[in-house]
Amino acid sequence: MTAKFQSRRAPIYADIPDEKWNNWRWQLSHRLNTVEDIEKILKLTDSERKALSAQNLFRVDITPYYISLIDPDDPDDPIRKQVIPTSGEMVPFTSMMEDSLAEDKHSPVPGLVHRYPDRVLMLVTTQCATYCRYCTRSRIVGDPAATFSRDEFEMQIEYLKNTPQVRDVLLSGGDPLVLAPKILEEILRRLSEIPHIEIVRLGSRVPVFMPMRITTELTEMLEKYHPLWVNIHVNHPNEISAELAEATDKLSKAGIPLGNQSVLMAGVNDCVHIQRDLVQKLVRIRVRPYYLYQCDLVEGAGHFRTPVAKGIEIIEGLRGHTSGYAVPQFIVDAPGGGGKIPLQPNYLLSYSDHKIVVRNYEGYVTVYEEPTEYAPHDSKTCAYCQSKRPEPGQSGITGLLDGDKMNIKPEGFDLLHERGGLQHRLKDDAKWQPLGIGSGESKDNS
Ligand SMILES: *Cc1c(COP(=O)(O)O)cnc(C)c1O
Repeated sequence: MTAKFQSRRAPIYADIPDEKWNNWRWQLSHRLNTVEDIEKILKLTDSERKALSAQNLFRVDITPYYISLIDPDDPDDPIRKQVIPTSGEMVPFTSMMEDSLAEDKHSPVPGLVHRYPDRVLMLVTTQCATYCRYCTRSRIVGDPAATFSRDEFEMQIEYLKNTPQVRDVLLSGGDPLVLAPKILEEILRRLSEIPHIEIVRLGSRVPVFMPMRITTELTEMLEKYHPLWVNIHVNHPNEISAELAEATDKLSKAGIPLGNQSVLMAGVNDCVHIQRDLVQKLVRIRVRPYYLYQCDLVEGAGHFRTPVAKGIEIIEGLRGHTSGYAVPQFIVDAPGGGGKIPLQPNYLLSYSDHKIVVRNYEGYVTVYEEPTEYAPHDSKTCAYCQSKRPEPGQSGITGLLDGDKMNIKPEGFDLLHERGGLQHRLKDDAKWQPLGIGSGESKDNS
């Protein structure tokens, strides 16, 4: 039952005393970022050496712990690809964007992205323990000069205080767990003082890049700010080490529910079998797979992109085949700020007025008979329906279903369909009647 995961150290670190190796400050200050450093551990390919020597490259920094997880003899190692740049990073592709999720456009104050009705993304630093080559926020991440100031933090807090519909704050960056412990605690404390904020989440890859950061001191501090949720970011089963298992155990014991967000990447994890192994190992370390993302259209990530169909194929290979708890949602984060859109295989094959035809993961096709009599939910007598909190301008498709709206129109729709005011002329004509409505007589009968 007990999880047995590996612990690795690259040979050059064999003589480092444990108390240094297991100290996160030592890991941070011994990060690798040059051809010379990295070559002591891995034999670099020409493409990697070229990229590492390029100007204007997105920042490279890798903890000794994380680089030790790479198999030095495998140029296609899935961990290596996530952190060692290659010349593929410098190749532009069609539809590539700097800020593909239009986060800057959705920021009422710097670093605060308010895209959804009841929750915000709060960017608290631009720094990470190690930098992912496919970073969706490479426009700001890694640059110490782009990090957020005290004034900006106060503006973020002020916006949150004045925006009562925000009940969920997601701290990200950069990585909130590389902040100085005092600063992180101050952010959590200030958020906890805002009465309408019900939950806080941290998005962090620190448990994966530097699991020794998850100290008892840290979890004791975090515990004071419940309900606190943490999403980590594991992409491949090789990242699940004895050290990561220990870190997630500490976080779980502190009462923090753990999720995982991963990115689907060519040559890293674009395989049903890798993904099944990944999600099964994640649930063993008490981490619930949450989202599997289609790779964003961000500069530098072109060589990681897969067809969207690959993600659907992976979900096809997980749902039903393994524990429901282990199946993430496959998400396309729509370019231009459209937000997260879930995609999955089709299980509904057809339907009539009281039957649906469905198929399961094995291809077994069956019928579910719907009730022939159903007393519809009565929103007039339902206290929840009566007291529903309005979502200004945000009722969306739900608004169509509950009668707030009749339609959602593309921009310019009304103008286009008024073509020369023909509709108005018809309406002004006293004899005009909409077909089949009103007197019951159509024009043809009169
Ligand atoms: C992803 C994201 C969230 C959180 O989305 P959930 O689906 O609730 O996890 C919130 N705000 C922004 C801007 C995001 O990109």
